[in-house]
Amino acid sequence: MAAQHSPSALLTAIINSLQDKIIPKTKTLVATGGSPFGASILSQSTLKTVTATVNAYRDSPLLHGETNCIREFFELPPEHRPDASACIFFSTHEPCSLCLSGIAWTGFPILIFLFPYEYTRDAGAIPEDIEILKEVFRVRSPGDTEEMLAARPLYNRKNKFFEARSVAELLEEVEDEEEKGRLGGRYRRLGRCMMGSREIGRRRMRRALGGTGTGVKVCSGPPRSSGVVREVFRSTLQKG
Ligand SMILES: [Zn+2]
Repeated sequence: MAAQHSPSALLTAIINSLQDKIIPKTKTLVATGGSPFGASILSQSTLKTVTATVNAYRDSPLLHGETNCIREFFELPPEHRPDASACIFFSTHEPCSLCLSGIAWTGFPILIFLFPYEYTRDAGAIPEDIEILKEVFRVRSPGDTEEMLAARPLYNRKNKFFEARSVAELLEEVEDEEEKGRLGGRYRRLGRCMMGSREIGRRRMRRALGGTGTGVKVCSGPPRSSGVVREVFRSTLQKG
């Protein structure tokens, strides 16, 4: 996975992309009643952000952060766009089944996400990522008990098309403990910025993002209630 770069360099690039490219757009979106879900695409060779955006579900329920980012990426002139196979796809939330398929269809080999499904379900009260994978894609094999079915992964994180991992997992590969602490503190702080600080419990955030969470500071925005996020997404889902 982007073998030419150290885990620390890769993580730094992702954190910078989140901080400099995604969060400013999130603040604008949330200020107009949108939800904080975004994505960016980075060049594997330079680790620079090629495209970054947030969801546009009010234009279309299919324009999640990831699918909207894919759309914007392919709207770039070919001379300004590296091949998808030479890019890293970063998503603020573990992508739903729609977006996983979009990433597979468009050929991004590396997927890194910040918040896992469980966090989106528990803190954002949006269980549909998990529910759709279970209800639509998970087929019971003969002899499967409920426990066996429940224990089965929701999707192949390492597959023919891409390899997915979380930012917390990537952090574990950083060997220098001081660097690990610094990077962990940075992305957890930005995670709080991304999702808003008032409504989301610190313990839950810590569980989702790994680490002890000590010294996590609260930033000023975008302060949006998870209840509002849930409401907006529910109405979108109902419309869809
Ligand atoms: Zn999605």
